[in-house]
Amino acid sequence: MAGIDLPVLPEMANLWQQTLNWQPNTQQQRQFQQLYEQVLEGNRRLNLTRIKDTLEFWEKHLWDSIRAVAPLRQTSLPQQVIDIGTGGGFPGVPIAIARPNWTVCLLDSTQKKIIFLKTLVAALGIDNASTLCDRAEQLGQHRHHREHYDIALIRAVGSASICAEYTLPLVKIGGLAVLYRGQWTASDTQALDSIVEKLGGKVELVTRFTTPVSQSVRHCLYLRKVTPTLAAYPRSTGVPAQQPL
Ligand code: SAM
Repeated sequence: MAGIDLPVLPEMANLWQQTLNWQPNTQQQRQFQQLYEQVLEGNRRLNLTRIKDTLEFWEKHLWDSIRAVAPLRQTSLPQQVIDIGTGGGFPGVPIAIARPNWTVCLLDSTQKKIIFLKTLVAALGIDNASTLCDRAEQLGQHRHHREHYDIALIRAVGSASICAEYTLPLVKIGGLAVLYRGQWTASDTQALDSIVEKLGGKVELVTRFTTPVSQSVRHCLYLRKVTPTLAAYPRSTGVPAQQPL
């Protein structure tokens, strides 16, 4: 950005390679840097993130976003992906950069964030991401989007029950909802099991991991869509959050 001396993100090539068996090429590294600069700039007008430090941005926004999809079998095949409640573009934008053959729809209910992301995606030359301003509850009932996606991602949008109700109706049979969580216990899984079943899914896998710089504990929930979701779900706007399943 002209006139402003912004810090440069660390490359962390070895850490990417050791932890995810992948590392960004020169173009991807440049896009990560542009993403960092644009998010910091956007933060002046919009509440996008509290993270400004380069290393923390690398770990919590870049590494954490991509880590959840790194173990997926279908990682090299084209996938239709939706990121629900993407905010400043996480995890969807780093994933669109890291997986150029995937198509990522960035969904948020806040118009200003979507306008920001539309400009960002164009400025970074990301041609495999689109933006959409809507509520997950509305989109889940839309015939062009319902049961359309191979993968639905959701991070920091609400409780696991709310996230399951937002994601699973959008996922096609055989596809996955990926819920990014912080702390998680076996009894949380037990409580979620019947809710996921109600929505046409099953809890296929829960992974626990520590982030590579600050060693923070994180979990990822992988919900497989096994049967069509009943027409009643997702419920109307606001209901999943006010009366969680
Ligand atoms: N996923 C990003 C991240 O991890 O940094 C942003 C998380 S931010 C805390 C939550 C975002 O979800 C906000 O941008 C909000 O506008 C959006 N959101 C909340 N409820 C939503 C809904 N029902 N449908 C679509 N977006 C929603």
